[in-house]
Amino acid sequence: MITRPGATMAQILDGKKIAADLRARLAVEVATLNQSRHIVPGLAVVLVGNNPASEVYVRMKKKACSDVGIASFSHELPADTSEETLLEQVALLNQDPRVHGILVQLPLPPRIREAQIIQAIAPEKDVDGFHPLNAGLLAIGRPGLRPCTPMGVMALIEAAGVDPAGKHAVVIGRSNIVGKPVAMMLLQAHATVTLCHSRTHQLEKVVALGDIVVAAVGRPRFVQGSWIKKGAVVIDVGTNRLADGSLCGDCDFASVQPRASAISPSPGGVGPMTIAMLLANTVQAAKQS
Ligand code: NAP
Repeated sequence: MITRPGATMAQILDGKKIAADLRARLAVEVATLNQSRHIVPGLAVVLVGNNPASEVYVRMKKKACSDVGIASFSHELPADTSEETLLEQVALLNQDPRVHGILVQLPLPPRIREAQIIQAIAPEKDVDGFHPLNAGLLAIGRPGLRPCTPMGVMALIEAAGVDPAGKHAVVIGRSNIVGKPVAMMLLQAHATVTLCHSRTHQLEKVVALGDIVVAAVGRPRFVQGSWIKKGAVVIDVGTNRLADGSLCGDCDFASVQPRASAISPSPGGVGPMTIAMLLANTVQAAKQS
């Protein structure tokens, strides 16, 4: 965690640094796993088509794997791949003993049903944590592979030195990949959780109750400083590309920072944590194989 100059400013939760520390610990775990059980954790990354943003994410994930000693297996399929062919590819990876984690990069081309593909991944190799079995295990508080971005959010809250137990956590956004699982994890950590969405009335007043605020809305600089309770911890999941090509979060950083006790920037907060958690899940899956 680093602190910006100015006594009243929030601590900046430096996702790059926290993720680098986690990756260093994972590199040691990978080496130990290799020595003690002769296992090299393996992640298969499947990319369909040539969405430029997806290509960048896939490259980053493969590089992150090699940095910690995880083997990555790349499967780049043409944009006109059928759902059937993709299901066959997933079935092969499910059977491959070198592969402990399978990641199918989303979004998929519109004619491929994402739910069908996610459901075809063996739950014990589902390092994205999106399979209905893993989602269900999270909902009932049992161990399983958890989604990476929500895991990153929880790690940033921990880095802020805040125990969610007894705190009021307000999550804005109810997607299956971010908002809902974050809310479940906060609940499991004994926070009182309010989950907001586009139909929430008087959102500002609800957000103002939060000791912890997680913004996963997908709207640039949407959450304003005036909504934030003084001293709240604010985690900004948003990654929005502006017309000039730059990235910004879902929170108006300039107005939120003076009111929060800690805030994760975007970019440089949740993003690097998400990739580190993908590696952590792959190592976990390899250990349990
Ligand atoms: P999503 O599926 O589009 O969900 C957005 C959520 O925000 C929905 O639940 C929606 O409500 C809610 N919402 C929209 N407008 C709202 C409003 N005016 N007031 C209150 N709630 C509103 O997005 P997502 O996939 O969860 O992603 C959210 C953001 O996180 C995006 O910027 C995305 O790029 C970013 N993200 C970052 C990472 C990372 O690794 N850093 C990973 C995943 C996502 P309804 O359900 O009612 O429509």
